[in-house]
Amino acid sequence: MTKQCSTLTKISDGIYQLVVRYPFDMFHMNSYFIQGENGFTIIDTGSKATESIDLWEKTLSSGIKVEKLVLTHAHTDHLGLARWFQEKHHVPVYISSLGYKEMVRNRNADGSSWFRSLLTTHGCPEFPMKQRKSETDIFDFEPDGLFENQQSIKLGDETYETIWTPGHSSDHFCFYNRRQQVMVTGDHVLAGLSPIIAHWSENDENPLKDNFASLERLKVYPTKLALPGHGELIFNMADRIDEMISGHKHRLQQVLNAVSQIEKTSWQVCQEIYGPVQPPQSFAPLLATITRLIYLELSGEVYSELRDGKLFFHSSTI
Ligand SMILES: [Zn+2]
Repeated sequence: MTKQCSTLTKISDGIYQLVVRYPFDMFHMNSYFIQGENGFTIIDTGSKATESIDLWEKTLSSGIKVEKLVLTHAHTDHLGLARWFQEKHHVPVYISSLGYKEMVRNRNADGSSWFRSLLTTHGCPEFPMKQRKSETDIFDFEPDGLFENQQSIKLGDETYETIWTPGHSSDHFCFYNRRQQVMVTGDHVLAGLSPIIAHWSENDENPLKDNFASLERLKVYPTKLALPGHGELIFNMADRIDEMISGHKHRLQQVLNAVSQIEKTSWQVCQEIYGPVQPPQSFAPLLATITRLIYLELSGEVYSELRDGKLFFHSSTI
């Protein structure tokens, strides 16, 4: 099978990987193929881009049989080609019912005004918003099946348990195979970098708190091999989770220190911690900083005050 299909790499018994590169930078997404009698179950697709479609066409035309597509969460870089799989290749698509809700929200939502007001409230200076091509069409399809938390699902011939892991996104799921001790971690646990934890919509209340709980939740599953949505495979998942938790705690302490003497906006805290970056390059650190300040506020360590449309944070011990 691997001889026929040059794009796939075997990583374990019955598990293969396809690295889907992004068109504009070095970043990439990992799709996984889990072998079964009725064909492969594919996990996540990469984003909707000509380069990704070419790679998928090449992969699928090698003669491999695909049973279904299962999605970890509804972010565009994971779900981007799900509709294309369903319409063009008649592959049934499965997502969690929470993921489906996100799909429906994204079909209708124009998140840009909410996003801009979030950034302005948190002190981000005015910036020209690049007119992005609308991506809402990728959400415009009906999945063939939905799954819930703690359900058994078949991925290939193996039985996996669905584990709800909100944090990086409110609809995020991991999949665990007890027999092989394999965990599909999506964007919840990555090897080389910490996935961004941010408020993606007005529905997200305290994603960092959710993320801490979801990281702890995963640690109880003995895992020999974790399959992340980006970057290298993980062979020591529990250690990596501890590392990620302490990374978050370190950042929280930095944020707390930054507002211990004088009040600051999230933007000012972000500049202090990450250095002078300008939007839109600063979006990821700024969003992460906002999420940390909200976490600290909800846990009573920081207070905020809204003045002239801007939120100022200060430590509760001032
Ligand atoms: Zn994601």
